[in-house]
Amino acid sequence: MPTDTPYEEDLQAAPSGEPPCDLTELGFTERFRALFEPLAAEGFVPGRVSRVDRGLPLVLTEEGPVRAEPAAHLRETADGPMAVGDWVALAVPEGHDVTIVEAILPRSSAFTRKDPGEQAIGQVIAANIDTVFVVQALAPNGPNLSRLERELVLAWESGAIPAVVLTKADLCPDPDALRDEVAAVALGVEIHLTSAVTGAGVDELHDHIEPGQTVAFFGASGVGKSTLLNSLMGDEVQETAEVREYDGKGRHTTVAREMFFLPEGGILIDTPGMRALALWEAEEGLASAFPDIEELADGCRFGDCTHTREPGCAVRAAVETGELPERRLESYVRLTEELRRVAERQDVRARAEKKKADKVLHREIKRFHKERGR
Ligand code: GDP
Ligand code: ZN
Repeated sequence: MPTDTPYEEDLQAAPSGEPPCDLTELGFTERFRALFEPLAAEGFVPGRVSRVDRGLPLVLTEEGPVRAEPAAHLRETADGPMAVGDWVALAVPEGHDVTIVEAILPRSSAFTRKDPGEQAIGQVIAANIDTVFVVQALAPNGPNLSRLERELVLAWESGAIPAVVLTKADLCPDPDALRDEVAAVALGVEIHLTSAVTGAGVDELHDHIEPGQTVAFFGASGVGKSTLLNSLMGDEVQETAEVREYDGKGRHTTVAREMFFLPEGGILIDTPGMRALALWEAEEGLASAFPDIEELADGCRFGDCTHTREPGCAVRAAVETGELPERRLESYVRLTEELRRVAERQDVRARAEKKKADKVLHREIKRFHKERGR
C-alpha cells in the first residue's frame, strides 16, 4: 500500500484522534468481511472512508490513511458517490502511484436526506452507522418536538438505531419533566440527559459506544453537537459555536463530515447542522417513528385512511378522546404529505428520463435504418 500520494497536505490534515489500524476496530464486521472475500481474492485492499474532500476520499486501511481517487465508473456525480463511513475496495494500478477506489461495498445503513439543491435526488450523509444520536437542546426553548419527530423519521430510515441525546441540562430547572415530554414522542428510543458543563450523562453515552461501533451525530446547529463530541473525545477536536463566532463569521462552518476516533475505541461522525431537513424516501422510517399511530390505524375503516377526513377513522377518534395528542397527528399528516410529494417528484423525474431515453433510442433507430439504406 503506497502512502506517497499527490495529496500529502490533505493526509496531514486528517483524521482526528488516532485512527485504529485494526479493521475490526474500524467497524469491519463479519458482514463486510464476507462481502469483501471475492474482492480480496482479486487482490483488492479493504478500507473505510473517513472523509471526502472535493470528491476525493481519505481511506483508512490497515496500513494507515491513504488518499484515493474514485475509479471512472464510480465518478457519476460531482460530489462523488462515496460517503463518510463507506467500506471500499482499493486497487493500485501498476505504473501509477495513485490508489483507486474500485468498488463500494453495499451499506448496512445509510443516513440520507433530500439533496437541498435538487428536486428529486437523495444525498447520503453517512454510511454504515450503528447508532444515530439525535441531539436536541433542553435550553433555551426546550426541545422542539416536531423537529424531533422529523429527525427520528430520518434516523429510523437510515437503518441504524436512533437514540436521543438531550443537551444543556444544566440550563434547565426541571430536565426530567422535559425528558418525559420527549419520551412521549420518541417511542421505543433511549433518551440520554447530558450537560457539557457539569459532565452529567457523558459517561452514560461513553458506555453506549463500543469499540468498532460507529455513531453519527445529528441535530440542528447550536444544539451542542461539537461540544458533546469534544466531551466524549476528552479533547478539543471540533470547533464549537463560541470559537466560530470569535472568528467573526457567526455562522456554522462545520461543513465537512468527518470521523473521530474515541481513545477507548468507537467512531463518531459529525454531520453538519442541517437546516433543510427534507425527508427522502422514508416510509419505513415514518412507520418506525410513529408506532402509536400505525397501531391505531389498524382500527380505521379504510385501509388507506389518511386520518384527515375519512369516516370511521380510529386515529382521529383517539385524538377526540385525548388518547393521542393532536399535535402528534398533525406532525404525522404533515410528514406523510411531504413524503407523497417527494415520491411524486421522483415519478416526474423518472418520466422525464424515460422520455429522454426514448428520444435517444428513436434517433438511433432512425440512424440505423438510414445507414442500412445506404
Ligand atoms: P453545534 O452547532 O451543535 O455543534 O453546537 P455547539 O457545540 O457549537 O454548541 C453551541 C453552544 O452551546 C456553545 O456556545 C456551547 O458552549 C453551548 N453548549 C453546548 N452544550 C452545552 C451544555 O451542555 N450546557 C451549556 N450550558 N452550554 C452548552
Ligand atoms: Zn384513519
